[in-house]
Amino acid sequence: MGWDVPASAIVELAGVTKEYAGGVAALRGVDLAIGAGELAAIVGPSGSGKSTLLHMVGTLDRPTAGSVRVAGHEVGGLSDRELSALRARHVGFVFQQFHLAAGVTALDNVADGLLYGGARLGERRERAKAALERVGLGRRAGHRPHQLSGGEQQRVAVARAVVGEPDLLLADEPTGNLDSAAGAEVLALLGDLHAAGTTVAIITHDREVAAAVPRRVRMRDGLIVADEAGVR
Ligand code: ADP
Repeated sequence: MGWDVPASAIVELAGVTKEYAGGVAALRGVDLAIGAGELAAIVGPSGSGKSTLLHMVGTLDRPTAGSVRVAGHEVGGLSDRELSALRARHVGFVFQQFHLAAGVTALDNVADGLLYGGARLGERRERAKAALERVGLGRRAGHRPHQLSGGEQQRVAVARAVVGEPDLLLADEPTGNLDSAAGAEVLALLGDLHAAGTTVAIITHDREVAAAVPRRVRMRDGLIVADEAGVR
């Protein structure tokens, strides 16, 4: 414990609680700061509140109580529209199930990550091509999801998440649907993005992922019970 709160925190949660309808307290007073440039894993048993925490950090949902700041913006003071803009500008998401549009090329799946910014299709595709090259899939730009392996699909999803150069990349079980070789590739890719300056938070059950990152935030019953630094 005793994690130093970085001066340039991208994410700051203070006293965050989240109660769902039916009285489930998924988060019970969470304080968490993630500094610019960190690579952190959020670990813990099923039902401990990891996904709920990711929803708070990603401003996909609002807390019942407490404060959430992302990239310097206090989420509680923003309208839904402003929250969408905050997410579009600052946060990229990767999910276990890839969530690529079927029948749409890798290039256009990635280009869709820029829809919010209002760039023209030509520019979106140019940037998408560069993002695909960054994840090692420049030569698969014209492939559709069903023509790609699971690991390649997840790399396309990572390209889509980072094409807008977000401050923060949030990944929810990004290796959960992959075999160990493909999972290792995706993990290495997240490590490369971190090395290039992106702040990355990964929810994971995967011990290898957890062991490979510099910080592990452990959750249990809606609380952070340990915050460990150092690669083991
Ligand atoms: P984890 O990601 O660690 O598995 P979750 O954040 O998904 O944990 O869930 C934490 C708790 O909140 C669980 O008890 C879960 O059943 C409950 N929960 C999660 N989402 C909802 C929801 N939308 N409505 C009601 N309860 C929920």
